[in-house]
Amino acid sequence: MTDISANPTAGWNFDNSYARLPEIFYSSLPPVPVREPQTVILNDRLAAELGLNPDWLHSEEAASVFGGNTLPEGSRPLAQAYAGHQFGGFNRLGDGRAVLLGEQLTPSGHRIDIQLKGSGRTPFSRGGDGRAALGPMLREYIISEAMYALGIPTTRSLAVTATGEPIRREKELPGAVLTRTAASHLRVGTFQYAAQWGGPDAVRTLADYAIERHYPEIGTDEAVEDGERYASFLQSVVERQAALIAQWMQVGFIHGVMNTDNMTISGESIDYGPCAFLDAYDPSTVFSSIDTGGRYAYGNQPPIALWNLTRLAETLIPLLDEDSERAVEIAQDILGRFERLYLDAWFDGMRAKLGLFGREEEDEKLIADLLDLVKAFRADYTNTFVALTFDRGEIVPGQRTLAGSESQVRVGAPPTRTAAIPGADALIASGEYRVWRERWQQRLERQTQSREESVEMMRRHNPAVIPRNHRVEEALAAASNADDYGPLHRLLAALADPYAHSAEQAQYAQLPPDAGEGYRTFCGT
Ligand code: AMP
Ligand code: MG
Repeated sequence: MTDISANPTAGWNFDNSYARLPEIFYSSLPPVPVREPQTVILNDRLAAELGLNPDWLHSEEAASVFGGNTLPEGSRPLAQAYAGHQFGGFNRLGDGRAVLLGEQLTPSGHRIDIQLKGSGRTPFSRGGDGRAALGPMLREYIISEAMYALGIPTTRSLAVTATGEPIRREKELPGAVLTRTAASHLRVGTFQYAAQWGGPDAVRTLADYAIERHYPEIGTDEAVEDGERYASFLQSVVERQAALIAQWMQVGFIHGVMNTDNMTISGESIDYGPCAFLDAYDPSTVFSSIDTGGRYAYGNQPPIALWNLTRLAETLIPLLDEDSERAVEIAQDILGRFERLYLDAWFDGMRAKLGLFGREEEDEKLIADLLDLVKAFRADYTNTFVALTFDRGEIVPGQRTLAGSESQVRVGAPPTRTAAIPGADALIASGEYRVWRERWQQRLERQTQSREESVEMMRRHNPAVIPRNHRVEEALAAASNADDYGPLHRLLAALADPYAHSAEQAQYAQLPPDAGEGYRTFCGT
């Protein structure tokens, strides 16, 4: 470990508030150096937002920092302690293969965690080697950046750095370190750890820290009664998670491993392991090979989020009221609001996907009936909404399809979206759909907004591109097996603007040859 500071022109601007918490919350240690750090992908745009110097970013020294061989100036590296319910069972966990380098204060005034994942063993490693394979770290890079571009709160990826060391899994794989950024790495599991091994005082310290960092509007005003402050905190986390899960559901995202250690207090999505996006719409869809019981199936995500939030609420009971019965009532009352918050957020998002402004009583049935049809036809979820956006059946081939939408029309080329939309055609051609479409059209007629406004809203809520499983696999295989990063860069470029609906993106709407049947994802440890 080189402990000299990184080049001062790098742009690091650390202030490490987590390291100032009591020591039970972490273990101080540097990342374990690697043989030959070589950065294989860098996020220049994110680096600029963080205030890092673009010249430094591509230097050998940067690779050394991202590989864990050099500590950046101002870093106070540590592994965080946490616990978690994994598939319902409670375990003591902690960063077993990650190190928080510090918190970067960005030019726009944000405080962002800079974490290395796959950085070697820590006191929390248990039986693990502390390392990560290149494929899964690239996978997290792709999915997190796709989620970000979709407009969903998420941790992000700054770099993936090959270590030059093989790691042992079922077979030998190339090792890599992911440089991850996050609003923070506080998890529901951090509170569970505090409650179990620190007691109410530790929970209070952690809650005060979380309030200051993520919910400053709650305030630490002496005049605000304690119980009220922590009730507001719980309510705020419930609100953010309800909104987050609604967004996941709207884009067909399946996290795959919603353990309480993988749910943040900030409301960002975190830990992209066996996650994947729906192809054919079916709420019982599970991709993860380890989720044999379907606990984390697509349609189970809202109730699982509430289950996890209930675990958070339990840790806060001693802070909500001196009278524990009263405290339980307060917690239950707040948790009881989750369902309505979630449904309101979800229905509003689905209205936007259908171009509907305002709220009408029949909207919920209109939306539910459409999804029933999509399910019955095993239609592709994403492409169905693209087909609706371009209202197939109304389009005359060869003509411009939408007023004011230049991007999809190329001189000399047919408009992109008049071509068949994979996975949606059988549904769109059906009599059942025509009946439903009539109701939808009537609802659109009733609103004062123009068709153009509706279509514009639909375009902004119905992605043309999602990280389809076969495309992700293809990009990972080329990178991991042939050192060819071309497909990965092209995929990332398409994912960076998922609502563009450009001609170049049409190829990413194609379904896998076997329509995704039997696709499995692995935890990628
Ligand atoms: P995850 O399934 O990635 O959320 O990880 C669950 C727990 O296992 C966390 O405490 C991780 O730090 C730990 N873990 C996962 N993989 C490894 C590994 N290769 N070495 C050590 N700890 C690991
Ligand atoms: Mg995790």
